[in-house]
Amino acid sequence: MVEIGGAFRIPEVVALSHSEMVEVGTTNRTRLGDYRRAITERTRAVLRVHPSNFRTVGFAEEVEIEALCGLGVPVIDDVGSGVLADDLAVLADEPSVRRSVRAGAAVVAFSGDKLLGGPQSGLMVGRRDAIEQCRSHPLARAVRIDKLSLAALEATLALYRDPEYARRALPVLAMLCATDEELAERATRLAGLTGGRVSSATARVGGGALPLVELAGPVVTLDAGARGAKALAAALRQGQPRL
Ligand SMILES: *Cc1c(COP(=O)(O)O)cnc(C)c1O
Repeated sequence: MVEIGGAFRIPEVVALSHSEMVEVGTTNRTRLGDYRRAITERTRAVLRVHPSNFRTVGFAEEVEIEALCGLGVPVIDDVGSGVLADDLAVLADEPSVRRSVRAGAAVVAFSGDKLLGGPQSGLMVGRRDAIEQCRSHPLARAVRIDKLSLAALEATLALYRDPEYARRALPVLAMLCATDEELAERATRLAGLTGGRVSSATARVGGGALPLVELAGPVVTLDAGARGAKALAAALRQGQPRL
């Protein structure tokens, strides 16, 4: 039962499909037996939605995708941000697209723009029969991707063929992988250009992903002076380069 940015609520999307949603387990702990008991002959799919922008911490338990796929009911896995860079430590707690596909999920849905680093788009991958069924739905044409986004998405995905290169070429991965030295050098340069001083702080990944990760690193602190923060922001925006 997840709401993501822009008040987009998964249960409301399910309701629009005229299917009946049955909640399984509890907010913090859900076991395989809960799914087994909830499944009846009317069950058409198990839907798992990744809590992209929040976490349940403490006395919590959930069922792994492999076990869900073993229930004998098609699994729709909304993994959210779309992690194809499985080898990045900072992304280790995000669900991997490949893992869900390997587990046998019928449909794995994820964003093309969040952690994948491509254009605003949504992707569905999984079992051929299930994807064909989605593709032939009357709504598929209404929500189909445009050619420019498709070209950008194809180019983004092609970069992943070489994981090492992808980490440098895709801005989102390059930012997540930036070393302390790189950040320190950047901050020092920026401080020199703006008359600020380098201090340290923590930042968030953003984009509705990794809500608990705190990225520690150098920041540039600027003294707004007598003219105030608004005037400073305006000067930064109108300077060369614009910041
Ligand atoms: C972001 C997100 C979506 C929507 O994806 P967009 O491509 O950003 O529209 C759907 N489900 C989950 C779990 C998400 O995190």
